Amino acid sequence: MIAWRVELVRIGTVAPGVLRRLAAELAPCLAREVFVAGATIDPAPAFDPLRRQYRVDDLLLALLDPPPPPGVKRVGVTNLDIFLPVFTHVLGLAQHGGPVAVVSLHRLRPDEPEHPDPSGVLRRRLLREVLHELGHTLGLVHCNVPWCAMRASRVAEEVDLKDAAFCRSCAGEVGLAADCPCAGRDPGDREPPRVEKEHEG
Ligand SMILES: [Zn+2]
Ligand SMILES: [Zn+2]
Repeated sequence: MIAWRVELVRIGTVAPGVLRRLAAELAPCLAREVFVAGATIDPAPAFDPLRRQYRVDDLLLALLDPPPPPGVKRVGVTNLDIFLPVFTHVLGLAQHGGPVAVVSLHRLRPDEPEHPDPSGVLRRRLLREVLHELGHTLGLVHCNVPWCAMRASRVAEEVDLKDAAFCRSCAGEVGLAADCPCAGRDPGDREPPRVEKEHEG
């Protein structure tokens, strides 16, 4: 397995602290170098005026201009509502086996607008979605293990069912060492996933 590292890039207005915090969580989780790019990508060319959303495949193309250096997985993070023509929305998209991916915070947010995320719900969801899309860039397909980061999820509540880890099978496929924090145990070793609630009552 060729060594790879992760570059996080802001797409549009995302607070720099969001990416710094994500990098600080992602690096020990993957046991890889994670750095935040200085530049920001302008999402305007990806705006669809009819849907009032942003085309995620256009954002992937923007991330490829210029292409990342060899060994760099470039992940764009945005607050914008992103879509593909056949779907109402997507949480993220990656170039399968390629160097780029996009993850949106828009539909990962808990209900309250401008929620300060005191319980860390948004932070946890973002980490899981970034692991998921990184898995696709490494060539992984969707996985049926309920807690595996490669399980497909269409809505934020499904993201909550996943762990910030790949099952042993997925981790092994992409060469993540078994002692790496994001390389999970076998499905049979696990307790059932917990649903994390941000509200009581
Ligand atoms: Zn996926
Ligand atoms: Zn898996």
